Amino acid sequence: MQARENCIFCRIVAGTARSHPVWDDGETLAFMDLNPLAEGHVLVIPKPHWENLFETPAPALGAVMDTAKRMAHAIRATIAPPGLGVYQVNGRAAGQTVFHYHVHLIPRHDGISLELHGRRRADRADLERVAVRLRAALVPPG
Ligand code: AMP
Ligand code: ZN
Repeated sequence: MQARENCIFCRIVAGTARSHPVWDDGETLAFMDLNPLAEGHVLVIPKPHWENLFETPAPALGAVMDTAKRMAHAIRATIAPPGLGVYQVNGRAAGQTVFHYHVHLIPRHDGISLELHGRRRADRADLERVAVRLRAALVPPG
C-alpha cells in the first residue's frame, strides 16, 4: 500500500509522471489510457498501491466503482458510444501489464465481446460440482 517508486500509476498519483487526469478525489484517480483501444478509454485506480483484486480492500474497490460509474456517465454524455466495456484483469496470464489495481472503461462500437462466455452449454452437474467447491471456499470480503 506504500507508493512504489517503480510503479507508473503510483508515479502518476504522486505527480512525478505525466498523465491526463479526468477525476481526482481523496481515494481514486481517473485518467486517460495512454494506449487507448478507443477514443475515451479511461482507467480508474485507487490512489494507494495494491497489485490486484485480491489485495485491494473492499471499501477501496467500492470507491473505484463509484468513480467508474461517474466516468461512465461522462463518457456517455460526450463520446456516446453504443456500448461501454468495464474490464479488469489480474495476473500476467489474464493480460495484466501494470500491477497497480485498475479498471478499464472502454467505449465499444464493434459488437465484439471479449470472449466473456463460451458457445457450448455446460453439463449442469459439472456446474454444480464447481459451485459446491466455491461455496465452501467463500471468505468474507476484505
Ligand atoms: P492492463 O493490461 O489491464 O494491466 O492495462 C494497463 C493499461 O495501462 C494499458 O491499457 C496501458 O495502455 C495503460 N498505461 C500504461 N502506462 C500508462 C501511462 N503512463 N499512462 C496511462 N496509461 C498507461
Ligand atoms: Zn502503484
